[in-house]
Amino acid sequence: DKGTEKTREGLFSRITKAVAGKSTVDDEVLDELEEILVTSDVGVNTTLKIIKRIEERVARDKYLNTSELNGILRDEIRELLAENNSNDFQTFEYGNYKPYVIMVVGVNGVGKTTTIGKLAHKLKQAGSNVVLGAADTFRAAAVDQLKLWGERVKVRVVAQAMGSDPASVAFDTLQSAVANGDDVAIIDTAGRLHNKVALMNELTKIKNVMQKVVPGAPHEILLVLDASTGQNAVEQCRQFTQATDVNALALTKLDGTAKGGVVIGISDEFKIPVKYIGVGEAMDHLQLFDRKAFVESLFK
Ligand code: GDP
Repeated sequence: DKGTEKTREGLFSRITKAVAGKSTVDDEVLDELEEILVTSDVGVNTTLKIIKRIEERVARDKYLNTSELNGILRDEIRELLAENNSNDFQTFEYGNYKPYVIMVVGVNGVGKTTTIGKLAHKLKQAGSNVVLGAADTFRAAAVDQLKLWGERVKVRVVAQAMGSDPASVAFDTLQSAVANGDDVAIIDTAGRLHNKVALMNELTKIKNVMQKVVPGAPHEILLVLDASTGQNAVEQCRQFTQATDVNALALTKLDGTAKGGVVIGISDEFKIPVKYIGVGEAMDHLQLFDRKAFVESLFK
């Protein structure tokens, strides 16, 4: 599949190929750059924004050598990401709240359970006591999977019977966290998207119940998106941000297809910081998002 191959190739080499034999950045080069960015899942609006900035630079400097293009693009992307990722996440610690409550949302299959497991592992390594809440009660597999992760990384999992009220599971989990003096509670939620109003109502209900136990909870509403699904991830981001106050993003599967471009477009369109990235299936394959390292990896 040619499309996949194209995106698997780094931005750096695609741009280098596109400008081969040309010395200055002209309209043709800019057109090619535009195509490269769009097919790298950066998104049309963000691509146009980047192209416009480069055009302005060409107009200002009169002459722009193609050999400078990679470096300029790298600067523009870094700047774009910085606008929306002003928080630099240095550690996996959440010291100021006890418990710090993370409500995790996202559609099935994006890597929600895996991300929760990996995050619990990182937090434990950082010295925090963690409890997980299996509030995706609509799929037996989801509860089982979370329990498995709990065993694997040795953290408690609060669960009820399948089909029980997700808000009730969230309530139990936070009560347990308070009683146990836990530092962080991470609540999984169901990922069905068939009805936006139903989703909104359910997430609101869970939030309200949480606040009865921990005022101010959830402190983090983390939306998990699969970076390899490109524009689907963008659409899911749109749906979930309309349904609830998402304030952090996790982008998974950035190890495989290298479709990192979607991170740029989502960050630009939604102004929500990318906090975590998933780079594999194992328990230590979760990283705090590091803008500089991310931009460098795009240009490898
Ligand atoms: P959920 O339905 O959203 O809870 O998704 P799961 O957590 O069950 O993950 C779905 C699949 O994606 C599983 O096979 C995971 O191992 C895999 N997965 C999750 N995160 C990553 C990642 O960062 N990289 C890779 N390669 N696979 C991942």
